[in-house]
Amino acid sequence: MPFRSRTLRFAARLPIVSLVSKLSPDVVARPSGLAVTLASELDDLENHQGHDVDAILVRAAEAAWAAEALGDLVLLRRAQLVQADMRQRNGSVGAAARIFLTIHAWADRYDCRPLSARSHFHLALTYHYLGDHAASLEHSLSSVELLEDTAPAGLRIIYLVRLANSLAECGSIHAARERYEQAEQLAVASGDLTRRMLVLNNLAYTEIEAGHTGVAQQIAERMHATVRALGREFLVIERDTIANVRISVGDFAGAERILADIQDAPRWFEAHDVADARLTLATAQRRLGALDRAQASLDRCRAACTSDDQGPARVRAMAEQAELYAAGGEYAAAFEEYKRFHAAAEDLRSQQQEARARTRQAIFETAEARRDAERYREQARRDPLTGLYNRRFVDERLPQIMSAAAAAGTPLTVALVDLDHFKRINDTLSHDVGDRVLVAVADLLAGALPGRDTDAFAARMGGEEFLVVLPGLAPADARPWLESLRHAVRDHPWSPVTGELPVTVSIGGVAVVPAPDEDQAALLAEADRHLYVAKRTGRDRVVC
Ligand code: GH3
Ligand code: MG
Ligand code: MG
Repeated sequence: MPFRSRTLRFAARLPIVSLVSKLSPDVVARPSGLAVTLASELDDLENHQGHDVDAILVRAAEAAWAAEALGDLVLLRRAQLVQADMRQRNGSVGAAARIFLTIHAWADRYDCRPLSARSHFHLALTYHYLGDHAASLEHSLSSVELLEDTAPAGLRIIYLVRLANSLAECGSIHAARERYEQAEQLAVASGDLTRRMLVLNNLAYTEIEAGHTGVAQQIAERMHATVRALGREFLVIERDTIANVRISVGDFAGAERILADIQDAPRWFEAHDVADARLTLATAQRRLGALDRAQASLDRCRAACTSDDQGPARVRAMAEQAELYAAGGEYAAAFEEYKRFHAAAEDLRSQQQEARARTRQAIFETAEARRDAERYREQARRDPLTGLYNRRFVDERLPQIMSAAAAAGTPLTVALVDLDHFKRINDTLSHDVGDRVLVAVADLLAGALPGRDTDAFAARMGGEEFLVVLPGLAPADARPWLESLRHAVRDHPWSPVTGELPVTVSIGGVAVVPAPDEDQAALLAEADRHLYVAKRTGRDRVVC
């Protein structure tokens, strides 16, 4: 079955409730109430992702609009993921991939794990469509790992099933079984029989594809028990799976019995599955030797292939038709049909390849754009003359370092470093020489910092004033460290640059374990006071 791709199928249609109708005025009056309602609406949209793509799109658009009004960026992006997911189902795989990647990058930058989990899940599906099983597996693993404990059980089940399918596609059948089992246990524990059917349906299919027909048969038994407990009929897709299990063990009559009475579109959202099921039926009947019945089923399969996206079913119907001719001894007709099948299969393959190429291009462009944005972002945080970080970076980074140190109870040294009589260098020599001195001092500062894997950094605050930040340095070591920095500047061979003029710095340092609510302005002001004392008491010294 070359074109059959197993995707997650959702087994129950959900009532479409407009979010707006949930937003009664008293809820709107209490913003936190609105956020809670919106979060649960998004849980619902993500969890069910029903069959009515258009209705879900409307609900997701309303949710996005409400999240924007609320100023909640995480909820907004969750709504955008649902919208993109629906577009992907409508065939806009490339456009959807762009959105998944952009939101994924955003979640990554702000370390927003719940959003990361969701974007990983969607990217897993994107790479699945692209046939890139390894990438799909990687994203599936991360999605399960990052999903928050408070996420609805139904969502975790879907993520686990996606992970299990990915593992199976990569040939790790044992690991796959383990995840299906986890998913099934979760479904049982949460009393979610609908999801249990989803798990079993995917598991059964995996076992058939892996050639474990005995195991597949046991799973089919569990599907029978579960559908009885659910008190409903099998869905078409479930019947198709069970019929395939029967065929795999040579029970063609059993397969025919299961599929014989499938109507044209028993449920509107199953229209797609009907063609597949009729094809399975035709195969079972042919292998049973009932060639007339097989031909009738095949004709009905073709009749069910009404929409453009049923190309794969149409192509597989040609292969089955050729088999059927051959089974009836019509070898010339079989040969002609095979030729048609091969041409159509080639056609379909190149269409699919084109679609995949477009998606890959979209992924590539998004990654490029992101790299550009990162580059601009980085540039905006650098001082162009010295290449050190600038004040904007300090304003962003220092509060983060302070609160991390406060939380961990670890010390932090910050020091302002100001060139002494720098004006004299500019005035006596030139502004250009002044620039070269600034660059050289910046290099000395950067070179004095501990290894790359620490959060220590140096920045140019403006003019001839610099900042060094040293997380983790013991307060007792702060003064010696700053003294050695001062010496490094004064002992540098300056004469090729400044001739007779010495270059020295004054340093105002502070070494503390920050209080949880301490703000960086206060810390820098204290360092500045110490710097002032250093200047007033003769320059070329450290006050700490
Ligand atoms: P003090 O020891 O009290 O710090 O004296 P100072 O001369 O170093 O300090 P002051 O604040 O009086 O002068 C700083 C000078 O730095 C003035 C300004 O022209 C110069 N300056 C600021 N930015 C640059 C720059 O990018 N390049 C050069 N060459 N000079 C700069
Ligand atoms: Mg100065
Ligand atoms: Mg100054």
